[in-house]
Amino acid sequence: MSGRILIIDSVATNRIILKVKLLSAQYEVTAVSNQLQAQAEMDHDRPDLIIVDLADRSEDRHAFCAALRDDLQTSDIAILGTGTANTAKARLAALDVGIKDVLPHPIDDAFLLARVRSLLRIKNVNSEIWVRDTAGRALGFEDEKRTFAHAAHVHLLTASTAVVPQIIRDTADSYSPNAQILPLDRHVPLGDPLASPDLYVIDTTGVRDPQDALFRLSADLRSRTATRLATQLVIVPDGATEVAAAALDLGADDVVMASVCKAEVGHRCEMLLQQKRKLDKFHTTVKDGLKAAVTDPLTGLYNRRYADPYLKALAEKTQQAGQEFAIMMIDIDHFKAVNDTHGHATGDAILRTLAARLRKNLRGIDLIARVGGEEFLVALPQSSRDMAELTADRLRKVVNGTPFDLRSDQAPLNITVSIGVAVGGAETVDQFNTDAVCLLADGALYAAKSAGRNQVSFAASAA
Ligand code: GH3
Ligand code: MG
Ligand code: MG
Repeated sequence: MSGRILIIDSVATNRIILKVKLLSAQYEVTAVSNQLQAQAEMDHDRPDLIIVDLADRSEDRHAFCAALRDDLQTSDIAILGTGTANTAKARLAALDVGIKDVLPHPIDDAFLLARVRSLLRIKNVNSEIWVRDTAGRALGFEDEKRTFAHAAHVHLLTASTAVVPQIIRDTADSYSPNAQILPLDRHVPLGDPLASPDLYVIDTTGVRDPQDALFRLSADLRSRTATRLATQLVIVPDGATEVAAAALDLGADDVVMASVCKAEVGHRCEMLLQQKRKLDKFHTTVKDGLKAAVTDPLTGLYNRRYADPYLKALAEKTQQAGQEFAIMMIDIDHFKAVNDTHGHATGDAILRTLAARLRKNLRGIDLIARVGGEEFLVALPQSSRDMAELTADRLRKVVNGTPFDLRSDQAPLNITVSIGVAVGGAETVDQFNTDAVCLLADGALYAAKSAGRNQVSFAASAA
């Protein structure tokens, strides 16, 4: 994975050793000795990750990092700290200004590289979210309304629920009543399957072979829909840097040694939950965006963009199952005259009501799409000609049977539709060509119009 890394360290040998390690892992690396040079470098080339030595007392590194975190333009740059005393106080002071982790000297190579890979991965996701957010704001999407922060659900997995380490107990308490302590090897709770966790805290301290357990667990969590998007914090036995490195490479979002203080675990949990909320919001926005792209805004029905691939998939499925399907084209009769007489707004209101009536009178598995101004396409899976005929007649009657209300000072308006139907999927392969079946339905619609409108017409045969 490529990535641009900036090292800030006042000690030349530290800079050189770190630079060599990262260069050999194919990163683009620049090393500077002070913050002024770092700033000049950043103005020129924005890094993805900064590794900063915290031992230097001549400059305020903490303020420097806090400023980067608080500036929207640089807030997605990941920061790692080195050189500080490995005390709870020093670690917390670093986390407090947005530094993701502190690596004490001598730096463990395998862990350093695993941490760098993991941070760059997360940074890439954050940059992507930033781009979409910015584009969304430029398009006028108001995203603040979507941000609701539900109470975080936390699952804490540990070797044995009979002997739970204090740190797990404390963390569970701080998320009570939405926290559950579960055995690591049987972690799927029996309770509400919808209460999928936002965060897993995975304690590997009492586990016999932590790497093997993590390997199996991460594969399992990533394969389930309910657990796939949860973030993960892994707690490893003190000094087990190789387990920590493996955890990060297996996709854990963060990792920490077992002896760190309760406040540090709490801080890391909060950071992960913040990231999870951001990701949730992002997924909702993408989902809404996709939905908007295939939905007709006037009627709420699917549009042609959705109907086309849907029909292809329907034909394929029907062919595999040896079934039949029907396609209907429904067109409002003399709709131009309605607009001309009552105005476009009334025409719109009628389109909306009519669409709702049609949709209400179809099965859940049927598809209805608005494919033209006053034209609708209906696909009936698993339907013979007889069933299609019944359905078409019913639809015609739900339109012409009840006049459409206009403004209160106007009499309700009688509206009718003409319907053309074609059945696909009977014998020949060609009949599974949905374009051909749609054309036949179009032809049948034309025939219904010519025969006087307000009627259903069938295509002679789907050849
Ligand atoms: P026919 O019975 O032959 O189908 O006659 P028609 O008047 O319905 O057909 P034509 O194709 O001549 O006109 C369709 C009209 O539908 C023209 C247009 O004003 C109206 N229309 C199309 N889209 C909309 C829309 O979104 N809102 C409104 N109000 N009218 C629409
Ligand atoms: Mg038309
Ligand atoms: Mg029409």
